[in-house]
Amino acid sequence: TDLTSLILDRIRDVPDYPQPGVLFKDITPLLADPVAFAAVVDALAGTYRVDKIVGIEARGFILAAPVAHRAGAGFVPVRKKGKLPSETLEASYDLEYGSATIEVHRDAFHPGERVLIVDDVLATGGTAQAAVELVRRAGADVVAIAVLMELGFLKGRDRLVDVEVHSLVVV
Ligand code: IMP
Repeated sequence: TDLTSLILDRIRDVPDYPQPGVLFKDITPLLADPVAFAAVVDALAGTYRVDKIVGIEARGFILAAPVAHRAGAGFVPVRKKGKLPSETLEASYDLEYGSATIEVHRDAFHPGERVLIVDDVLATGGTAQAAVELVRRAGADVVAIAVLMELGFLKGRDRLVDVEVHSLVVV
């Protein structure tokens, strides 16, 4: 079977989570399947030559760490504000209600390092856009963003004008 159905058959739609009206894409059945998990990690790693893989807390970590291993790259966490122990750079972005702030360690990259950002789901693109900004401010080059699933109707891709977006499936 092809990668698309391998993925789509293992993503569960959960209505009204985390709030009423939202249809949440739950990737835990996919993670629990060793064949699908391995295929997704390989596909996210693609053929990129990069120095670092950035994972976005929390589900992004689950995918980004094995992708880093697969790509022969280092792993860098982007975390919610207040979680990283050393000096950080931070970026804020708007949510439907309120805002969110994410951080990366100031010294996470050497100047000019090539970086692939990995997350599970691209929705409005706010999180990915903030992660791109953080990586660039920390002195590295964003080669691409790779996500398992893109929610096309939310047009997140349109916010990410100057970066390559690679999604394994678009729904
Ligand atoms: P965005 O900033 O609106 O693009 O939201 C993307 C972030 O929210 C990612 O870090 C995702 O992990 C998370 N997210 C948004 N919608 C979903 C979903 O349906 N399933 C899983 N994660 C989601």
